[in-house]
Amino acid sequence: MQPTVILRRCPDYNTARIHLLVREGLQTLGLRPWGRTLVKPNLVATGKEFPHAFTRPEFTEGVLLALRDRARGDLTELAVGERCGITMPTRYAFRGADYYAMARRVGGITLHHFDEVPQVEIPLYHPARLRDRLFTPQPVARADFFVNCPKFKAHPWTTVTFSLKNYIGIQDDPHRLLDHDHALNRKVVDLQYVLQPDFIAVDAIIAGEGRMLTPLPFDLGMIVMGNNQVALDAVCARIIGLDPESIPHIRLAREAGFGPTALSEIDITGDFTLETARQAAEGFRSGLIRVEDYFQGTNIHAYSGPPPAGDQDYCWGGCPGAMEEAIELLRLFNSDTDASLPPIHLVFGDYRGEIPAAAGEPVIFIGDCAAFNGSIAGRPVNIPNIYRSRSEKEPLKARRDDVFLKIARTSWSMRNLKRDPVIRMAGCPVSVAEQLLILVEAGGLPNPYFAPARALPFASSYLSWRTRSALRRLRGTPYNRPGPTLRGAARPAQNLEPS
Ligand code: SF4
Repeated sequence: MQPTVILRRCPDYNTARIHLLVREGLQTLGLRPWGRTLVKPNLVATGKEFPHAFTRPEFTEGVLLALRDRARGDLTELAVGERCGITMPTRYAFRGADYYAMARRVGGITLHHFDEVPQVEIPLYHPARLRDRLFTPQPVARADFFVNCPKFKAHPWTTVTFSLKNYIGIQDDPHRLLDHDHALNRKVVDLQYVLQPDFIAVDAIIAGEGRMLTPLPFDLGMIVMGNNQVALDAVCARIIGLDPESIPHIRLAREAGFGPTALSEIDITGDFTLETARQAAEGFRSGLIRVEDYFQGTNIHAYSGPPPAGDQDYCWGGCPGAMEEAIELLRLFNSDTDASLPPIHLVFGDYRGEIPAAAGEPVIFIGDCAAFNGSIAGRPVNIPNIYRSRSEKEPLKARRDDVFLKIARTSWSMRNLKRDPVIRMAGCPVSVAEQLLILVEAGGLPNPYFAPARALPFASSYLSWRTRSALRRLRGTPYNRPGPTLRGAARPAQNLEPS
């Protein structure tokens, strides 16, 4: 079937309406779920503080009901699986998004917490791969009928997050952070080789504008469905007035053979025309703002140089964007954040310019690739690049970082500021959570991880997660297993044989 994108008008989160529209979408595409059917929403951040960051439960409920209506007789499992933003237990995200209650309403739904299941090794063979293997949760590798249910959102690292980028959640923490740097667009494409979805349904009813974790609501009133991720993302990009070929991960996925971006190769149908959809999205702001510009007018002074890639002048997939998300999180939890922060200087990449910090003002070099050789407040400073090349980072040895260890480690490192106002926070990338903690320590701000309203559900989800993980290890369930037989037909031809 030609790649098809269906645009349907849906003004609100009425589950019955979503159920009907998605069932019609499945009919139009001639799809019938079977075997292990797995739905992957976007639950990167959930709860009442993040109302527009995740695939809403009413939406997923409508999708599940429609899948059940259309299922063949050999449906063996109808499941939802996700790994939310790193360091947070997925249990906490499911709870915040009301997915446990939703699953009970639908009945017979399995919820897979991707941070609690074995991770399966998937070999990669395509010539442009970043590495020879990656890991994905077992339910993903075993899915017979895979449904991608992203949220329609802007993104500070990749401009937008539609269906292709939603695959970042089919990895657990240690593997997700590997290559989450200036090669993020290529990582998103490598993940496409794990499997391609049979069906995509995007929650574009209230879209997320401007940011990823704390987006502003944008009333689009639409459901976008399709059978090809590149085609669907290309249409979504056009809806917000962007050329899909200007968005690197969409262009790279098209070049890798995962689908077309040209409208002439995509069948667009539904009760919204592309033009009507464009009118509805008029003024939608996507991501991609350089960190120096992002902090203009605040006490944070940011400076950036190129990452080690050689052909890029900015690390779009790594530390700078994480800092933008970190400050927005702090602003969300504390409206006095900007007023509370003293002057701070943050340096990313190989920076060759001036750092006009006054004596005693903190200057924090963020990330392994941060480097500088010059004078700060009248004294010579030499910060060497300690970046390790990609080939030195082996997925089998990737480490899971506990959130409480991160808190302790960041607090300890930030204490060095009392002795020397110039320090480095190592890592590649330094995650959103760590950068948030840097600002908490630098500004003496309240730590959102310890906010009373969240402490109890967080602790309960955390303990449940860690206990189950420990039991799994005690039972001898291996963390990494050889890859299963994948649905080769879903993959581009060049990945079928070792190169
Ligand atoms: S250390 Fe940070 S800025 Fe440097 S390459 Fe890694 S992710 Fe990018």
